[in-house]
Amino acid sequence: MSDALSEQQRRRIAAARERRLAPWRERGMEAGEADAVGVVITHFGAELELEPLAGGEPLRCFLRATVDPVVTGDRVLFERERDEDGTPVPGRGVVTARLPRDGLLARHTARGLKPVCANLDLLVVVLAPEPAPHADLLDRYLLAAALDDLDVLLVLNKAELPAAAEPALAALLAPYPALGVPVLRVSADTGAGLDELRARLAGRAAALVGQSGVGKSSLLNALVPGAGAEVGSLSARRNRGRGRGRHTTSVTRLYRLDGGVLVDSPGIRAFEPDVPAPEALGAGFPEIAEAATACRFRDCRHEDEPGCAVRAAIAAGTVAPSRLASWQLLRAEAEARARP
Ligand code: GDP
Ligand code: ZN
Repeated sequence: MSDALSEQQRRRIAAARERRLAPWRERGMEAGEADAVGVVITHFGAELELEPLAGGEPLRCFLRATVDPVVTGDRVLFERERDEDGTPVPGRGVVTARLPRDGLLARHTARGLKPVCANLDLLVVVLAPEPAPHADLLDRYLLAAALDDLDVLLVLNKAELPAAAEPALAALLAPYPALGVPVLRVSADTGAGLDELRARLAGRAAALVGQSGVGKSSLLNALVPGAGAEVGSLSARRNRGRGRGRHTTSVTRLYRLDGGVLVDSPGIRAFEPDVPAPEALGAGFPEIAEAATACRFRDCRHEDEPGCAVRAAIAAGTVAPSRLASWQLLRAEAEARARP
């Protein structure tokens, strides 16, 4: 090995150490010997589970009070917990800092903005012929992905069912490939399409999202041997939840997969992404934003204004009516939030 190369390596190691220490320097502290980097697998109340980046058994940790809240996917610094005579307590640690995030998927809830997971690069939106899909939910995920700079993959599960061939479903999915969003037809039951799904997930930091009952847990079990996610029949769940909408997956959890990670989160019925301003909607609706540049009024809502180029595009078949319907709903939401 040449001296030049080892010099380069030394610089790289020093730079990595600098990055690791940066959160500490901000707090006027130096990292101790024992600190290491970990990834948050899941969290429950005040405790979380993390996996050391260097490998090894997962640890149960609590957060030191000064540390910012963490979510699944966050990278953190941790120390091993020690008893009075300094012996490490097996499987226990304490998180001492949260490292900088590269993106955060979040949604609005009745109790405020709720972060879902951090450091993703791909959103895998799962849908199925049953329960019936809603374009509105797909478009909300697409928008969140665009705002958070994530790629999106639409996965139609239960593709072996006859209902998967219905024209209404094809019409619902038709707009997406032209928007750069691939649509993959798979079946967790027969295994069809799973090799391609695996290939698309390799090396990615992906999250499985979608309505409850579309087969996210089934796909997770097929992709990650030993994941052991509980698969529930729709009717069984309805009974268990006593109509209150309980889900079999109740926490967001990260799994390792072919050099990448896959995050499974509870199925949700409604998803309200965090849209910074009504003008930001264009990120998730590029075809509408583009058509709208030719509308007569700059603030056209594409309802019944004269000279509306978006409605003209719908009449010409170049913009899907379902996409405009989603845009209008999200626009109203974003405006309501923007009001003081
Ligand atoms: P989740 O709520 O999205 O996690 O969905 P589950 O994985 O719990 O699956 C919901 C229901 O759909 C269960 O009854 C599964 O057996 C069923 N299911 C999952 N994948 C398939 C599939 O590819 N084909 C068919 N026919 N049913 C499936
Ligand atoms: Zn218009």
